[in-house]
Amino acid sequence: MAIETTTPLPTRHAKLGDMFAEGGASYSFEFFPPKTDKGEQNLFHAIRELERLQPSFVSVTYGAGGGSRDRTVGVTQRIATDTTLTPLAHLTLVNHSVAELRQVIGQYADAGVRNVLALRGDPPGNPQGEWVQHPEGYAYSADLVRLVRASGDYSVGVAAFPEKHPRSPDLETDARFLVGKFEAGADFAITQMFFHVEDYLRLRDMVAALGCDKPIVPGIMPVTNVAQIEKFAILSNAVFPEDLAARLHEVEDDVDAVRHIGVEYASDMCVRLMAEGVPGLHFITLNKSTATREIYERLDLTPKPS
Ligand code: FAD
Repeated sequence: MAIETTTPLPTRHAKLGDMFAEGGASYSFEFFPPKTDKGEQNLFHAIRELERLQPSFVSVTYGAGGGSRDRTVGVTQRIATDTTLTPLAHLTLVNHSVAELRQVIGQYADAGVRNVLALRGDPPGNPQGEWVQHPEGYAYSADLVRLVRASGDYSVGVAAFPEKHPRSPDLETDARFLVGKFEAGADFAITQMFFHVEDYLRLRDMVAALGCDKPIVPGIMPVTNVAQIEKFAILSNAVFPEDLAARLHEVEDDVDAVRHIGVEYASDMCVRLMAEGVPGLHFITLNKSTATREIYERLDLTPKPS
């Protein structure tokens, strides 16, 4: 199925809020900070492969500890200065005072990064553990949205949860918190990975019913490895479809067959989501390019040579 792309591609330092306001659909990729120099080499290889797909932006997640945080900042800066891509920098409140948050925002600004995904982050080591606020930090991501906004000319995104955040008491309250983040100044949201399109549509409709029309971009994770399934359930709280899990287990020793099923499932989700008029698709790449490139082929999104 061919999908029309009407949005002109943003320039390197474009603000994503402006891009979403112009309409059309965005296509974006998420990476995580590599732990080693070799990992960084592999990541930039994947980035070069994916650069050809001309994504609207790429994002780099923010780790829990010092070393990986430095890598996030370094990789995001390198994307801004060495590639044609528009970076979105993730930033979390975990173990940070407000002064430290300001400092990281300043490092992004120095590299020309104009887009920040403002997050609270999970407790380090155990995502389900008790959240502890830094004594000189913030309690909620909405506070970080306000800080980034007050720090300069940035576009700010936030996290959204189609199956509700695990700590939210119910879906309705969770939708209200998301609207609160938009009211704090967020221009757009990107969702946690999910595997049932209905969960996304329910959140979108609840937010709309609260009078908010800001873009909520679905986060898509193509499964490429059976061991990921259990890990996902713990990390994201996303309910994994039993029939998909059974199909993947049947071929679990065949890497290509697993990826084929994961790509097919993710592509079918994308087709349904695009038919629903979503503002974009955000692909969680796990620093690899093959699955995302295959989805692009299936959706006929690969840019044609001019
Ligand atoms: P918040 O918006 O602060 O919400 C935290 C909790 O407080 C929720 O239960 C919420 O319902 C509740 N809440 C919110 N506002 C209020 C309020 N006003 N009053 C009372 N309760 C409230 N984690 C990382 O460590 N690094 C990353 O790079 C990263 N990237 C992510 C990208 C995406 C797209 C998503 C969806 C998640 C990402 N995460 C990342 C995970 C995220 O940090 C965790 O899910 C975290 O537990 C919640 O973050 P938040 O920004 O939604 O927090």
